[in-house]
Amino acid sequence: MQTVDTLIIGGGAAGLQAALVMVRARRSVLVVDSSTPRNRFAHEIHGVIALEGTPPREFQERGKEQLRSYGVEIVNATVESVTDNDRTLTATLSTGDTVAARAIIVASGVDDVHPDIPGLKENWGDTVLHCPYCHGYEVADKKLGVLCIGEFSLQHAAILRQWSKDITFFTNGMVLSEEQRTNLTRRGMALVDDPVTAFHDGKVLLGSSEHAVDALFYMPVPHPHDEFLADLNLERHSPPSGMGGSLIKVGPAGATSHARIWAVGNVVNPPAQVAMAMGEANAAAIAVNAFLVEDDWI
Ligand SMILES: Cc1cc2nc3c(=O)[nH]c(=O)nc-3n(C[C@H](O)[C@H](O)[C@H](O)COP(=O)(O)OP(=O)(O)OC[C@H]3O[C@@H](n4cnc5c(N)ncnc54)[C@H](O)[C@@H]3O)c2cc1C
Repeated sequence: MQTVDTLIIGGGAAGLQAALVMVRARRSVLVVDSSTPRNRFAHEIHGVIALEGTPPREFQERGKEQLRSYGVEIVNATVESVTDNDRTLTATLSTGDTVAARAIIVASGVDDVHPDIPGLKENWGDTVLHCPYCHGYEVADKKLGVLCIGEFSLQHAAILRQWSKDITFFTNGMVLSEEQRTNLTRRGMALVDDPVTAFHDGKVLLGSSEHAVDALFYMPVPHPHDEFLADLNLERHSPPSGMGGSLIKVGPAGATSHARIWAVGNVVNPPAQVAMAMGEANAAAIAVNAFLVEDDWI
């Protein structure tokens, strides 16, 4: 069985950045990636200096190519389980292969779970959006809708108001207090109360009416890809509502409750954008190398 200094699980923004720091610190690195980065539905990445407008797939491929030029091995597979063997951890991959690692950086991201309304998933990343910092500029001053999926949607709408004054808030059947309604209407937003039945051709469909929008915003529920760590019983915590059910708990630089495992990016911080995920990964990789520097001499 192959033993590496660092196994990186996930080859999105966070995993690739961590791998770059590790290999440049002259550590052996294996990246295992199932190649479904969260932003693959979007046309372009925004908000990352010098990478403005890069298509997500191109970003991932270019990153992998750069890592290969340093000799990093990248396996297209899914990590299915991780077990603890004292001074190493063993990962079992979907290919049936196993790999031993002295340290693991988990950067496996999340899946976005959408409300069960036809047309949302189909237009995700195009006219159905979530992040104003990623896509707000491209739809600035246009006719925007916000689909209410819980308390957080009120704050979401208030933030989006920075990008457009033409906002319709679809309560989608959620009962708002007078104070909540006033908070939206004083910002100039229109309120539509019926449950939304579908989103089709730029139109939000309700029982007896339809409303054309240039883009519809809501926050899907993030589901972290961390099932493969279940056997290790890592410490977890519950983030604020709307940010997912339970996440692996991390301390400074992504340290988990296991001394040889770090976790970074969306899998532990679902709201993190590309630059944030890369920053967390950079810090974790430096911490992992510092750990190995001591571990080398034990
Ligand atoms: C539609 C959309 C558009 C976005 N646009 C922007 C934008 O313009 N700008 C911006 O800054 N942010 C944007 N984001 C946010 C961005 O997607 C995240 O910040 C970023 O993807 C986080 O990187 P990550 O490495 O943590 O996760 P990801 O990029 O999701 O990468 C995780 C990787 O791990 C792999 N993986 C999962 N499980 C396993 C496993 N068990 N074994 C092996 N591999 C595994 C996945 O296949 C994936 O390749 C957008 C998000 C969405 C949904």
